[in-house]
Amino acid sequence: MRTRWIAVLRTPVGAGAGLLLLGVLLLAVFAPVLWSHQANAIDTDHLLQGSSAQHWLGTDNLGRDIFYRVLVASRTSILLALLATAIAVVTGLALGSAPAILGKRGGRAAIAVVNIAVAFPGLLLALFFAVVFGVGAKGAVLAIGFAGAPSFARLTQTLVAGVAERDFIAAARIAGVGRFRMLVRHILPNIAEPLVVNATIGAGGTLLAFAGLSFIGLGVQPPAYDWGRMLGESLSGIYVHPAAALAPGVAVVIAGLAFNLFGEAVAKGLGVQVPRARWTSRTPEAVPARDSDAVLVVEDLQVSFPGPVTPVRGVSFTIRKGEIVGLVGESGSGKSLTALAVAQLIEPPGQVTAAELSFLGAPLLGRLPVRSTAATRRRLLGTSFAMVFQDPMTSFNPTKRIGVQLAEGAREHQGLSRRAAMNRAIDRLRAVRVPAAERRAHQYPHEFSGGMRQRAMIGMGLMGTPALIVADEPTTALDVTVQRQVLRLLETIRSEDDVAVLLISHDISVVAEICDRVLVMYAGRVVEDLPATELATGARHPYTRALLAAVPDLDTALDEPLAVIPGRPVDPARLPDGCAFAARCSFASDRCRTEDPVLVDQVACWHPQAQAEYSSFRTGQR
Ligand code: SF4
Repeated sequence: MRTRWIAVLRTPVGAGAGLLLLGVLLLAVFAPVLWSHQANAIDTDHLLQGSSAQHWLGTDNLGRDIFYRVLVASRTSILLALLATAIAVVTGLALGSAPAILGKRGGRAAIAVVNIAVAFPGLLLALFFAVVFGVGAKGAVLAIGFAGAPSFARLTQTLVAGVAERDFIAAARIAGVGRFRMLVRHILPNIAEPLVVNATIGAGGTLLAFAGLSFIGLGVQPPAYDWGRMLGESLSGIYVHPAAALAPGVAVVIAGLAFNLFGEAVAKGLGVQVPRARWTSRTPEAVPARDSDAVLVVEDLQVSFPGPVTPVRGVSFTIRKGEIVGLVGESGSGKSLTALAVAQLIEPPGQVTAAELSFLGAPLLGRLPVRSTAATRRRLLGTSFAMVFQDPMTSFNPTKRIGVQLAEGAREHQGLSRRAAMNRAIDRLRAVRVPAAERRAHQYPHEFSGGMRQRAMIGMGLMGTPALIVADEPTTALDVTVQRQVLRLLETIRSEDDVAVLLISHDISVVAEICDRVLVMYAGRVVEDLPATELATGARHPYTRALLAAVPDLDTALDEPLAVIPGRPVDPARLPDGCAFAARCSFASDRCRTEDPVLVDQVACWHPQAQAEYSSFRTGQR
């Protein structure tokens, strides 16, 4: 970040604006020390004089030198403007980040307060607060500060909402990091840059507003003086002594420009510009896991959004200890939403329902059982559940060192000291084959390669003793060699620690490579469930077959177009009657177009195809 700021200061505009701002700030610091005596010296022989060699900008009604008074007034003007900006930023930050800390109701109330405050014109608010807090510098600072807070609150809300959607926040949430800690350690560092830039630009506006309040007599009171007050006092004589009236005005413009230009230059150079989901169970009491080896039980899971749209429609599966299950399908098939629902990462207005959704026997939906609390549920997920996201670049907080991010969950849930947590982080980085783990733990995410970041993400999941790793397209952003390394790593972890893995991918060849079982999803449903070893010969659903046929191999003719599945995936908002795949299926009959098939004998199809040999697809990559 520091390098980028330095780069901004090296541009002509950045350097010019920086120098101008530095000059203004230095003037504010040193002018009163150097020239207070000249500024306050009363000379009754030269009252209300015009410009002269002795008094460049003339004198006021007590014969005081206007030029020196303008210089000395810089401290009061800028200091008060900065104080008001600080109040606006702090209040705005508190209001804007409230939805991320408070619960659903508190968050809504905070958003409503901000919405109402933003609707009032800033000047009207400033005048209102000026009357409330009283006439004088203190009242004006509070008035302008509070009047500026709504716009910073709105900005903070937008920035927080943007960061809250990033993968590393989801990862931290899964690790059980609390709301306040999440805000302070993960969200605020990532929105600090645009906030600082906007505060700098805002300081210019505040300076102008403060001069305005002093000008109309609501700001700084005699004997203190700032540019606004000087402007007000000399305005009556503007036709006789124009310099005396214009000088403080010019000072306001120059100082305001310095803040604005600097902020704009930095913004240009840097490219600057939550409530929880409703979780319900359709059964009043959670059903205990039926299988002692079951790690995750999902029964009739549905994810819906207002519209209504239901992109996940009754998905059911069980994952047992040490099992790798692949969830495969085209984009929009609902596989990633299924993973997010399992990880409890569906945000409002999304709604998740299920007949059962339990992890290690503990229900994840509905009312908590006796002697269980939200904290215990969070701790269970934090220590036993790991999630690996598609984009290794966004999976980590870019402002924190990798080791610190890995150690965070261990400190939270295992009560480890800072040093012990860091030692474990280094150990876990070694376990996922990150070379020079000790040195790497002290590096930032951008210093890692894509594959190494993905391995570090898996290492983060291993900080506890995970029973399940959900990997959502973990290899999509990686090249083939690194892809293979990551898959092998997941396989090794499974075999060494008996960890279950839910591997989500659009690529059926990736899934076939390491999975025990494959669930094929289409239009929010599981349409086929079969062992990975039977993919090549035992797939019976036309969609599974089409996915397999679309995988190129060494025999694929390079001069012919690759096989693709005809048509486009169905829009979840416009599901047809009958089978959702019918429009793309060459076996579709009238019954297919009117009756929706359910999963019977591991396949949801009215006309399952006989077993076949696929010469173009091999699972022999194992
Ligand atoms: S139910 Fe009919 S349309 Fe659907 S996949 Fe089977 S054969 Fe094709």
